[in-house]
Amino acid sequence: MARPSYDVIVVGAGLHGLSCALNLAREGLKVVALDKDHPGRHASGVNAGGVRRLGRHEAELPLTMAALEIWHRIEQEVGDSCGFVACDQIKVAESGSEADTLQARLLRLRELGYDHEQWIDADELRRRVPAIAPHCVGAVLCAGDGSANPFRTVMAYRRAALSAGVEIRENCPALALSPAGSGWRVDTPQGPLDGGAVMNCAGTWGNTIARALGEPVPVTPAALMLMITERLAPFLKPVLGAAGRTLSFKQFDNGTLLIGGGHRGTAEPECNRSRVKMVGLSISAQTVGALFPQLADVRVVRSWAGLEGMMPDDIPVIGPSSRADGIYHAFGFCGHGFQLAPITGRIMADLLVRGHSGLPIEAFRIDRFAAADMAAMDTPEQRISA
Ligand SMILES: Cc1cc2nc3c(=O)[nH]c(=O)nc-3n(C[C@H](O)[C@H](O)[C@H](O)COP(=O)(O)OP(=O)(O)OC[C@H]3O[C@@H](n4cnc5c(N)ncnc54)[C@H](O)[C@@H]3O)c2cc1C
Repeated sequence: MARPSYDVIVVGAGLHGLSCALNLAREGLKVVALDKDHPGRHASGVNAGGVRRLGRHEAELPLTMAALEIWHRIEQEVGDSCGFVACDQIKVAESGSEADTLQARLLRLRELGYDHEQWIDADELRRRVPAIAPHCVGAVLCAGDGSANPFRTVMAYRRAALSAGVEIRENCPALALSPAGSGWRVDTPQGPLDGGAVMNCAGTWGNTIARALGEPVPVTPAALMLMITERLAPFLKPVLGAAGRTLSFKQFDNGTLLIGGGHRGTAEPECNRSRVKMVGLSISAQTVGALFPQLADVRVVRSWAGLEGMMPDDIPVIGPSSRADGIYHAFGFCGHGFQLAPITGRIMADLLVRGHSGLPIEAFRIDRFAAADMAAMDTPEQRISA
C-alpha cells in the first residue's frame, strides 16, 4: 500500500483547525487543512475577540491558563500581534445575591489553587469603570486577560500555517470518510485525499463527522449575535460582563462599542448561515442601558451573527475518537473557543505525535454524553458519510 499523501488531514480551517495544522506542521508532519468555505468564514472570524479566563468552567482552567501564556507572546507564535491587547475583564454584580454567587465561585477557585479572579468592591469598581450605574455593588476582576482582533488572528494563523508548510484548500468540503490502508480517505469535490490521521475541527458542523463515525454528540448550533455602536469618547478600558445577565461589552480604540451576549439569532447550519433577531439584540442593548444609563440613546450601526456549536455541559469535545483509530476531534467550543485556540493546536499535536497531552483533557472526551442527551438532540445539519 502506498504511503498516504498527507500525515494529517485537518477538516475545518477555522482558528482551531489552523492552530492544529500549524502545530502539526511544526512537528514536521505533512498537513492539509480543508475548509468547505474559507478560513475565518464562520465563528473564528466574526467573534467578539475576548481573550478571557474570567468565569471559565473548572475543566477549562488549565487550558485557559496555558492559552493565555501564548496570547501574551502571540507575535512570537504566529508573527503578528493579532491585535491582542492585555486588559482587565470584569463581571459586575448588581445585587447582594449576585455578589454572593460570585464570591462563592472565588472560594471554589481558591480551593482549586487559582487566584486569577479577584473581588473588587463598589468603590473600586467605580474607580475602574467610572460610568457604571450606581446600583452595582461590586465585581469580579481578572487582570491580564485581554482582547484581540478575530479576523486578523485567523489570517495570522493562516499565514503561519502556510509558512510552516501546511496546504490549505478552500471551498473544499469533506464529503465522506473511509478507512484506507493504515489511515483514512477523505472524499472532496477536489478529489480524494489520503491521510494517516484526520482531525475534526469542523466547528458547528463537527457532529457531521462524529455522527458518521458512530459517536454523535448532543451539539446544538447557535447563532451568537454582536452589534457595534457609533463612536463615543473613550470611557471604558476593561471588557465587561454581568453576573445576572448575559453580556459581553467593550469599547474599541476608535470609540465604537461592541455589545454581545447570550441572546441568539437564527442558526441555519444546513444552509451555511445565521441571522440576527431584533428581539435578542434589543435585550442586549437594554442591558447596556441598565448598566450605563447615559448610553440609552446611543445608535447601533451594525449587527451580525455567527454560528457556534453549543454542548449541554458548556465545554467542547477535545481528544481522540472513541471509535476509530487515527481520528481526533476538537469542536463545539460553546461560545468561548477563541481564547483557547492557541492551546488546542498544541494539545492535538501532542496527542497525535506523543500519544498524550500534558494538560488534563479527560473532561472533554467525546463519549462523555449519556444516551438521554443524545435522545434530546434534534438538530438539522448537513451529513457526511463514513
Ligand atoms: C458572535 C460570536 C462571539 C464570540 N465571542 C467569543 C469571545 O469573545 N471569546 C471567545 O473565546 N470565543 C468567542 N466566540 C467563540 C469562538 O468564536 C469559537 O469558539 C471559535 O471560533 C470556534 O472555532 P472553530 O475553529 O472550532 O470553528 P469555526 O470558526 O466555525 O471553524 C470551523 C470551520 O470548519 C469548516 N467546516 C465545517 N464542516 C466542514 C467540512 N465537512 N469540510 C470542510 N470544512 C468544514 C467551516 O466552514 C468552518 O470554517 C464567539 C463566537 C461567536 C459566533
